[in-house]
Amino acid sequence: MASAIEIKQKNRKNVLRVIYEEKKISKAEISKRLGLSMPTVTQNLSELFDKELICINGTFDSTGGRKAKAIGFNADARFAIGIDITKNHISGVLINLYGEIVYSVRLRFRFEESDIYYREIAKLISHVMEKGMVGATSILGVGVSIPAIIAEDGKTVTYSSIIAATNLYENLKDYIDFPYVMMNDANAGGYAELWHAKMVKNMIYLSLSNSVGGAVLMNNEIYYGDRMHGGEFGHMTLEINGKQCYCGRKGCADVYCNAQNLSNLTDGDLGKFFELVDTGEKKYVDEWKKYMQYLAVMINNIYNVLDCDVVLGGYVGGYMEKYLDELRRMVSERCTFATDGSFIKPCFFKHESSAVGAALYFVDKFIEEI
Ligand SMILES: [Zn+2]
Repeated sequence: MASAIEIKQKNRKNVLRVIYEEKKISKAEISKRLGLSMPTVTQNLSELFDKELICINGTFDSTGGRKAKAIGFNADARFAIGIDITKNHISGVLINLYGEIVYSVRLRFRFEESDIYYREIAKLISHVMEKGMVGATSILGVGVSIPAIIAEDGKTVTYSSIIAATNLYENLKDYIDFPYVMMNDANAGGYAELWHAKMVKNMIYLSLSNSVGGAVLMNNEIYYGDRMHGGEFGHMTLEINGKQCYCGRKGCADVYCNAQNLSNLTDGDLGKFFELVDTGEKKYVDEWKKYMQYLAVMINNIYNVLDCDVVLGGYVGGYMEKYLDELRRMVSERCTFATDGSFIKPCFFKHESSAVGAALYFVDKFIEEI
């Protein structure tokens, strides 16, 4: 099935370009107008049309006779919802089959194991569907991203110290009317970045939010490790006997590179912190330099082990573009192997990468099954 193979290709934006005429046409007519005697191809085209996975999206220049129409992949044939749960916020996104955000929203709502909280999630799901003008039959599923380590089954929480989410999968049962899975937030964010990166097979994703996490993406897949702890860069030791980490140990990268180190200086407003850095005010510039030094050590350590692109995401990653040259210089000075630091990349998603990545689980599954 040529079309399905193309859809599965890495660059999903260049899917399916064949000549076709109009919708709801008979298979015999498709063959005639295509000028092909390939029943398998036409049968497959017809099936894709019936599933509304392809649609007319333009015309080709005429080479004599009627202009041939072009058809393309219909990215809006199905949608998936992503929910990102953090300690103090819930985000909801609706994405199409290209992984593009159709609608997204973020609201402040502190996590708690309660009926009120779960009802808020149910309301958010209805809200994104309403705003995206999408009916229930078009929804493939709901991916739920949480700051916790999840077992391979996508249900069992094996480690969770930021939110008390041990029974979350079971608790959501009565509030989500679609198939749903849970994903670690950093793995989900990394997966979203990998989906949008072109010609990249291996990538490290660093999530620099109010906690520091990460994902190892090898051969276009998330590497979870033998015990699902892969990519937990936040708990690499940066200082022997350093500051206390929430995990109970000392000197972890999380302590020095979490976004709150910066936003706490401006009443929780990270954007404000960077505005003040740009004014050159010493207090903020010094803090930012200190932060970048630890970040450069962390990146250098990762690069020495895994030798691939490092994408900076999370809250701080969203502001990184402007300071990238300086960070690259700091890393290249530290690095044993000659590098200009260009392997350090800014993230594609400035917001909501985790919600998108969680939703992509269902898009991927759907495409695999076409
Ligand atoms: Zn730690």
